[in-house]
Amino acid sequence: MKYHIWTSGCQMNVADSQRVASALERLGYQPTLKADRADVIVLNTCVVRQSAEDKAHGRLTSLRPLKERRPELIINLMGCMVGVTGNQQMGERYPFVDVFSPPSDPVPLIDYLLNLEGKKTVETETQSRNEMMDEELLLPEGERGRLVSAYVPAVYGCSHACTYCVIPYRRGVERSRPINEIANEVESLVSQGVREVTLLGQIVDRYGMDIEDSPGLGDLFSALHDIAGLRRIRFLTSHPNWMTDELIEAVGSLPKVCEHIEVPIQSGDDGILERMHRGYTSDDYRRLINRIRETIPGVSIATDIIVGFPGETESQFQRSYDLLEELELDVAHLARYSPRPQTVSTRRMQDDISAAEKMRRFRALEDLQAKIADRINARYVGNTEEVLVKEKHDARWKGRTRTNKLVFFESEAELRGKLVKVKIEWAGPWSMIGAPVLDG
Ligand code: SAM
Repeated sequence: MKYHIWTSGCQMNVADSQRVASALERLGYQPTLKADRADVIVLNTCVVRQSAEDKAHGRLTSLRPLKERRPELIINLMGCMVGVTGNQQMGERYPFVDVFSPPSDPVPLIDYLLNLEGKKTVETETQSRNEMMDEELLLPEGERGRLVSAYVPAVYGCSHACTYCVIPYRRGVERSRPINEIANEVESLVSQGVREVTLLGQIVDRYGMDIEDSPGLGDLFSALHDIAGLRRIRFLTSHPNWMTDELIEAVGSLPKVCEHIEVPIQSGDDGILERMHRGYTSDDYRRLINRIRETIPGVSIATDIIVGFPGETESQFQRSYDLLEELELDVAHLARYSPRPQTVSTRRMQDDISAAEKMRRFRALEDLQAKIADRINARYVGNTEEVLVKEKHDARWKGRTRTNKLVFFESEAELRGKLVKVKIEWAGPWSMIGAPVLDG
C-alpha cells in the first residue's frame, strides 16, 4: 500500500505532513512520488492568500478523474482549507474526498484507515488522541538519517487576529506544547540524524504564555541547548511586541541559537498598522531592530510586508518602501493583499487597490530588496562562514550559514549534516558560492 503527500504553504504544514507520513508508515504504508500510484493521497493545503487556495483547489479537482477510475483510492484533504471546525460545506463541494483533517491533526485519516481494516480507532480504545500526538515522531523512512534540518511545532494556532489574516480562523486558538514534549521530540529527531531544528509558531515569541508556569521561548531554547548532537536552533515567526530584551539576549548568548530573526513589520505606515491591528508603530519597530542589532552582532533579520492593504495610499506605500530602504534588512517576504473569508479587513474594508497597482508596489519593493540583499551579502565575500550542510544539489553541496544565507560549494567528501567552514568567494542577493577551508 502506498501513500502520496502534497504539501503547500508554510513550514507548519511541512511539519504536519511529516507527522502524517510517520503515522502512515507505522500502519505499513510506503511513500510514492507518483499520485496515480498511491492508495492514499493527502493534500495538505494553505489558504493564506487566494492564490494558495486556488492552487489547492486546482490540485484537488485534478484528482477527481483518478478517484472516478479507482473508487477505492482514499483522498484526504488536510490543513487550512479544512480548518479546525472542519467546514461543513467542504463535503458538499468535494464529494470525492473521503476524509477531511484540520491542520496539524493526522487522527481523522488514521482513524479512517483503521476503521476500514476493522481495527479499533485512535478515538476509541487503542490510544487517546493525545497519546498519539505525543508518540515518538519516527521520521518517514526516506528522511531518516538524511534529514538535517527539521521543523518542530512549538505553538499551534494563533489568537492575535490581525485584521487581514485567516490563520486564527483556520488553525484555532494559540496552544503551546509543553517543554518536555518538544525536548523529547527533538531528542528523537537528533537520534534519527537531524542536526538543526526550527521551532515554529505563528507568533513563536509568545511561546508558553498559555500554559502552566508560563515558560518563555528562552526557557525552551535552554532546554534544547543541552541535547547532545543538536548543532543549531532556529525559530520563526516572531511578533515585534513579544520580542523582549530577555529573549533577544538569549538568542545572543546561547551558542546553538542562530543569529537570525524573522520579525514581520507588514507595513511602514502607522495608520495601516493600526488598521491591521498589529499593535505597534513603525518607530517601535525601528527601536526593536536597533535593540536586536546592538545585542546580537552580525544578526540577520527578515521581515514580511503586505502591499495594497485596503485604502493604502501611494504615500502610505512609500513609507513601507522608505522603511525597508532605511532599515536594510536581509530578507523581505513580500505579499500582495488578498481578502480572506471571515477576516475583519474583508468584512469591514474595501479591497480597493487594483491588481495592477498591487503588482507595481510589489515589484518596487522586490527590486529594492534585491539591491539591499546584494549589498549585505557582498560584505560576506572573503569571510569564512560556518555552513551546516544539508544536501548535494547538482554536484555541489548546499547549506546555510548561521545567519541563514544559502551557500553552495564543491567537495568530494561526504558532508551531509556536517558543519563546514566555507570561504565565501561570490555573493548574490539570494545565494553565495564558496570553497571549503581545510583544517590544518
Ligand atoms: N503570523 C505571522 C505574522 O503575521 O506575524 C506570520 C505568518 S503569516 C501566515 C505569513 C505571512 O502571510 C504574513 O506575515 C503576511 O505577510 C502574509 N499574509 C497573511 N495574510 C495575508 C493576506 N490576507 N494577504 C496577503 N498576505 C497575507
